[in-house]
Amino acid sequence: MEPGAPDRDTQAGGLASLLRLARLGSGADYALAAEIGADGVAVPAAADPQPCPPAFLWRSPPDRPAGDAAPEPVRQLHLPGSLTLATGRPARAALVVPLATAGGLGAVLILLWHEEAPAWTAGKAEALDHVCRAAGEALAARSLLKRQVEARFHDLFESVPLGIIVIDGSGRAPQINALAAALLDLPAGFVDPARLAAAMRQLRERCSNADALAERYELLGADLDYAATLLWQLGERVIQVDSHPVLGDGGNGRIWLFHDVTAQQRLEDDLRRLAGQDPLTGLSNRRAFEAAAERAFEKGGALAMVMIDIDFFKRINDEHGHAIGDTVLAQVAQRLGGALRDGDHVARIGGEEFACLLPLTAPDDVAAIAERLRATIELAPVVTGIKAVSVRISVGAASRAAGDRSASALLARADRALYAAKRAGRNRVALAP
Ligand code: GH3
Ligand code: MG
Ligand code: MG
Repeated sequence: MEPGAPDRDTQAGGLASLLRLARLGSGADYALAAEIGADGVAVPAAADPQPCPPAFLWRSPPDRPAGDAAPEPVRQLHLPGSLTLATGRPARAALVVPLATAGGLGAVLILLWHEEAPAWTAGKAEALDHVCRAAGEALAARSLLKRQVEARFHDLFESVPLGIIVIDGSGRAPQINALAAALLDLPAGFVDPARLAAAMRQLRERCSNADALAERYELLGADLDYAATLLWQLGERVIQVDSHPVLGDGGNGRIWLFHDVTAQQRLEDDLRRLAGQDPLTGLSNRRAFEAAAERAFEKGGALAMVMIDIDFFKRINDEHGHAIGDTVLAQVAQRLGGALRDGDHVARIGGEEFACLLPLTAPDDVAAIAERLRATIELAPVVTGIKAVSVRISVGAASRAAGDRSASALLARADRALYAAKRAGRNRVALAP
């Protein structure tokens, strides 16, 4: 709170004391101060005795200042029945005085008597006049504070990068900010609750995960105080939707927050993908390959693994330079991928080492596939600019056998076969026993 700003509770307490003074001084049974909005609704600010009655429609604008006013029979004043029964007994006389508030809103002080209009004196009128001035000032200070708080709330409401819906305790006047309004295709500000509910339902039904969301919200809705954060998949966009209760008069107060996390989700997806990808060739790296191999192994059935190592790759680097060595790696990767079926998986698992996972491949077919891979590299040199580089590979292959306890056991057998191919002279295929 700013220094010097009036405290709302102190103001309400001060107003209540003034109302008590007005009631006791005039001999009335009930005193009320209410502000009247542009919509003609009177909102009680304080009452004596407490508590404040609910808001009511104001029909009889006060026109006589306190010094000139005198109690009148209630029936002449068109006061609402709910007010004339505020103390539990019907009032028979009333006095209505306009309060001068600086805030521009109209305000009134209302005194009620259970009996006929009492004798009224100039002294009582003058005393009431003083009380009314003080009450007007108290109300003006109160509405200034309220406007300050509302202005700050509005600033925050519109400046945070979130769609916000605030449903008050009565559920009557939901308020939505510009971002939420754009998302829901509604005007910003106060909206009709039924229209808001329909717009929210339509938005949810447009989501690709609409069924799962409907199920979750139905379960959650069983508890009036539920709080949840769910992702709404809206086409390409991902909206994180938070919903939680807020304290309100009617107990139905709720805040909805809509946070567009599309960019964040994309970044996470990219990071996840990149974590399993070799940047030079675009193939899976060793980590992603081993995970895929474990998954394929768990599935059961025929499975083969092929290990490939470029022959004398160090010489290629030494003769042509590291950059051309990189181009050779990228082209070998591309050719290996092109020589395999769609469901096969090729990865770069080391410097000049590649591995292939061949699901649903009969042991009898493995030798031919491995030979095809070797031949596809030997067939033509890798051409980069004006240079043509001959490349050869050694290949080791293994088919899943009864003794293999895991994917890594199968991979180790393929690796041993690869080194057998190297030892046997390179540029050849060796099969694991
Ligand atoms: P071998 O036939 O026995 O496999 O001989 P080799 O020369 O292929 O094997 P060695 O293990 O001696 O050399 C592999 C070379 O691969 C050494 C290393 O500098 C090179 N290398 C590893 N990663 C990269 C890379 O990303 N780019 C390039 N250009 N070279 C790489
Ligand atoms: Mg090697
Ligand atoms: Mg090598």
